[in-house]
Amino acid sequence: MSNLRIFAVNQKKISSLHYFNNMCSSKIRASLKRLKLHVLLGRNYSSLPGLIGNDIKSLHSIINPPIAKIRNIGIMAHIDAGKTTTTERILYYSGYTRSLGDVDDGDTVTDFMAQERERGITIQSAAVTFDWKGYRINLIDTPGHVDFTLEVERCLRVLDGAVAVFDASAGVEAQTLTVWRQADKHKVPRICFLNKMDKIGASFNYAVESIREKLKAKPLLLQLPIGEGKAFKGVVDVVRTEKLLWNPNSDDGKDFERKPLLEMSDPKLLKETTEARNALIEQVADLDDEFADLVLGEFSENFDLLPAEKLQTAIHRVTLAQTAVPVLCGSALKNKGVQPLLDAITMYLPSPEERNYEFLQWYKGDLCALAFKVLHDKQRGPLVFMRIYSGMLKPQTAIHNINGNCTERVSRLLLPFADQHIEIPLLTAGNIALTVGLKHTATGDTIVSSRSSALAASRRAKREGEKKQKENNEAERLLLAGVEIPEPVFFCTIEPPSMAKQPDLDHALKCLQREDPSLKVKLDPDSGQTVLCGMGELHIEIIHDRIKREYGLETYLGPLQVAYREAILNSIRATDTLDRTLGDKRHLVTVELEAKPVETSSLLPVIEYAASVAGDLSQASREAFENGVHSACLQGPLLGSPVQDVAVTLHSLVIHPGTSTTMISACVSRCLQKVIIVCVVALFLNFS
Ligand code: GDP
Ligand code: MG
Repeated sequence: MSNLRIFAVNQKKISSLHYFNNMCSSKIRASLKRLKLHVLLGRNYSSLPGLIGNDIKSLHSIINPPIAKIRNIGIMAHIDAGKTTTTERILYYSGYTRSLGDVDDGDTVTDFMAQERERGITIQSAAVTFDWKGYRINLIDTPGHVDFTLEVERCLRVLDGAVAVFDASAGVEAQTLTVWRQADKHKVPRICFLNKMDKIGASFNYAVESIREKLKAKPLLLQLPIGEGKAFKGVVDVVRTEKLLWNPNSDDGKDFERKPLLEMSDPKLLKETTEARNALIEQVADLDDEFADLVLGEFSENFDLLPAEKLQTAIHRVTLAQTAVPVLCGSALKNKGVQPLLDAITMYLPSPEERNYEFLQWYKGDLCALAFKVLHDKQRGPLVFMRIYSGMLKPQTAIHNINGNCTERVSRLLLPFADQHIEIPLLTAGNIALTVGLKHTATGDTIVSSRSSALAASRRAKREGEKKQKENNEAERLLLAGVEIPEPVFFCTIEPPSMAKQPDLDHALKCLQREDPSLKVKLDPDSGQTVLCGMGELHIEIIHDRIKREYGLETYLGPLQVAYREAILNSIRATDTLDRTLGDKRHLVTVELEAKPVETSSLLPVIEYAASVAGDLSQASREAFENGVHSACLQGPLLGSPVQDVAVTLHSLVIHPGTSTTMISACVSRCLQKVIIVCVVALFLNFS
């Protein structure tokens, strides 16, 4: 044991986690003071355009917008950058709320869970649907806290585009980087909004530079701020060479004017803007051949004559190709710059049909949808959020779940408006809806109209696969890529107030798990206690809170523990013999194996066979060997935590006739444990 070493990898992540948790608890204290306990906040949601009273029919006109006019977008950011405030302003200007919500008062629309209001953070992403200048926008508010990265991943998959919100005084922050990479992974086109331009210390240039350096993205400056910090008054539209000034006497920012920049009144600003516009045109021309032809031909002499629309179309293409990102700025809190942000969302982010989803060709217009979130509603049962990629969905019809291989019935369709849901009779491709009635569908499932539709799509995929000689399994390609569920990092025991309440607790945990696959529930085999495993302290605290609020159960949590893993850092080869006589039977086995570290972050040991043994090993001996390896990896030598990232190679296995497979496993396990003990072992946290 002398050469065992303990060290923690990811120390940074651990400390940042504590930082977030501490930050949140101070926020909780602060906001608890403000919270008027149990008073539901008076908000009026009945101002939906076209909705007179509860007349569902009048919604017909707005439920099926043409697909080219749909934008499925998300807002992503570091905690506190202003996602929720920006969302609130967006909903207000689009006419869907009548008063401005304020995160600091805990009455925003998207942070609708009670805990979110108290803590002032966004936990569970809520989809919100609204219209802006003839466009239908489905907005998903994604959480920014590290404990909830699964939520972010899940949402990014259903988005066609995203707005990254930055605190202009801080530039790119840690969580923005994480989310930005996740968006890269899902190839989501983005625009950037530099928020908090009114804050002391806000710097447009600094924030733009940090986008360039930290995110390695090419910023397209579509706006320039007029003033910074306290002097921030409005923005310049670089594309149109216009200034946008907000009326200082308007308390909701609805009143602003757009004026062309003139040599007479704004010589300095005009000069800066013209330079910025010329730079923008050159930058876009570098990235887009079609635009380059136009610029070099007709307008090479004078860029000022180039119509704004031509430049906008080219920026749209560049944004879609993700070779650069448009950058806008403003102050959500001070109600400046949000309307142009909405215009930019409709202008530059793609419609669903502009995204290239390969699997769509196999459905030929049949229903294909993805269940991306399950919520539990006490009255209505499970509510499943769906993104529809092709075909249409109607209430009172059966659907087929490919992952679950089952057929279910949708009873009702709802249009999500934060915690308000509006019943609708039909939903078409490109949109997001909530379904009622699906009992077996879980997060990440692919939904089609029927089993035969799935088979037909599978046949088409197969034919296509043969043509292209692809090796992918066609059935798998029919499923929309699944969300990777990270391994839990923190755990603690949870106890009901009395044994009689155990079934209630089990039920509550089952519902919560279907909603949130990153929550795992285990039974401790030694104590028989229920163990909660989650992504962080805050995650577990929230679950505890929700069990109390939503299921009326006061539970007790044990001390929080960290789910460490152990790994070996060098390779060692060893031999072991087990010779035991039980009754009149002799069990004799000799094993020679080697353990070596692997970098794949695989939880289960990788098992390999040396060429010398591979041929003459019976299936039973193989299984016995593998069982032995698995059981040895269950507990490492340092803290008894599971051993991972290890590959085990069998070099020889000599078995005396009559030796039981249990004895083979025991010998293998003992040999491997001996090997692991003499290796250099490291303790770490798995945040994959
Ligand atoms: P989120 O965590 O990204 O959802 O951020 P919030 O919208 O909850 O905002 C975090 C804090 O920043 C709150 O105290 C807001 O009042 C404040 N905030 C949001 N937008 C602005 C802004 O444009 N300017 C300033 N000065 N503060 C802002
Ligand atoms: Mg928020």
